[in-house]
Amino acid sequence: MSTTADPGLDSGLTGTERAVLRALSDGQRRTVAEVCAELSAARSSVVHALNRLRAAGVVVEHPSQRSARGRPARGWSLTASPGLLAVVVAAAHGLLAGVVRPDGEILAAVHGTTDVTAPTGALALLDRATAQAEVTHRDIELAVLGLPGPSLFARTPGPDSLGGSHLRRFREWDGRPAADVVGEHLDRPVFCENDANLAALGEAVYGNAADAATVLHVSLTHGTGAGLVIGGKLHRGGSRLAGEIGHLHVDDGGQLCECGARGCFWQTTSIPALLDELAMAHGRTFSVSDLDAAAASGELEIIRALSGFGRSLGRRIADFVVFFDPQAIVVDSTLGAASHVIADGIRAAVDQYAPPQLAASVQISSGSLGVSAHLKGAAALVRSENLLDDVRHGSSTLHLSGAGLR
Ligand SMILES: [Zn+2]
Repeated sequence: MSTTADPGLDSGLTGTERAVLRALSDGQRRTVAEVCAELSAARSSVVHALNRLRAAGVVVEHPSQRSARGRPARGWSLTASPGLLAVVVAAAHGLLAGVVRPDGEILAAVHGTTDVTAPTGALALLDRATAQAEVTHRDIELAVLGLPGPSLFARTPGPDSLGGSHLRRFREWDGRPAADVVGEHLDRPVFCENDANLAALGEAVYGNAADAATVLHVSLTHGTGAGLVIGGKLHRGGSRLAGEIGHLHVDDGGQLCECGARGCFWQTTSIPALLDELAMAHGRTFSVSDLDAAAASGELEIIRALSGFGRSLGRRIADFVVFFDPQAIVVDSTLGAASHVIADGIRAAVDQYAPPQLAASVQISSGSLGVSAHLKGAAALVRSENLLDDVRHGSSTLHLSGAGLR
């Protein structure tokens, strides 16, 4: 496994050449017809681009392998295999580390519940993941770090837009930026992304909603948030806070929120708030896995609570359906069986409050990937934003990521 040679073309690449490289960035072989279809581009311009990239040593043409009807098709691929991605997610629900190919295939995944704000646990988990995948740090081309808050390319100074916020505990490990800690450990660049955005991309690109062009993914395990994926790419918005449905205003007399507003939706409608209510009502503590188990075994009282939660959520999402008209709404699948009940509640509210034509056209379902959504989402992010190109060309561009208020 090695990194791709620098094509030395970065300043002279045309738009079509960049698009062709993006189409081949997963390391798979494609025919000219497949590249044309993927880019919706004319054959002549794709062939021209491939020939120029071949002359520069960036792509290679393989002899015919397929025996399709008519003339056998030739395949094209990048000259060298793309490197692997190391993914670390550190959030309130625990630690996750994995090794993923850029095409989304997961080679290793390990989960831990140790302190998410100290480097030792995360780095040990990362080393377990590379050992499980039977690769070394040198095989890793780029690390993707999923954190509850925006961050940046490792070791690149940038604005601290959430300075002093409660999210700092996730982003600073023993007083150092988490990206620096991971980057130094692997000696590789690190791209940080909001953990909920990674899950949204994973479900939107690889999950049940993979055919939908516009997807709202609702994250629930910690707080109430959402990620927006349009055409396979994250929509972060001008302030990088797009999709923060937890901060929709619902109560003029509500509590002051960390975001600076008062009476935000998540304060009363969130899984942690629901767990507290259940604990109060039943005189014992409840966890997210209790919700999963209760939904799976058909415990009526818990199902009713989850369903009501889904309808409260759905009441707000119905408004979003009206002005955004998404093709799919996907519910956080890390809640297991409970996410199906919540999705049904959202469906009921959208059917009740959104105009029938809009309600009928939106697919509403639970996600299907669980925690794998984060790992696959990292691969989708790297491909959709051409991050390996940036790494290979030594880009110093500052990449700021998605939302941080939860
Ligand atoms: Zn708020």
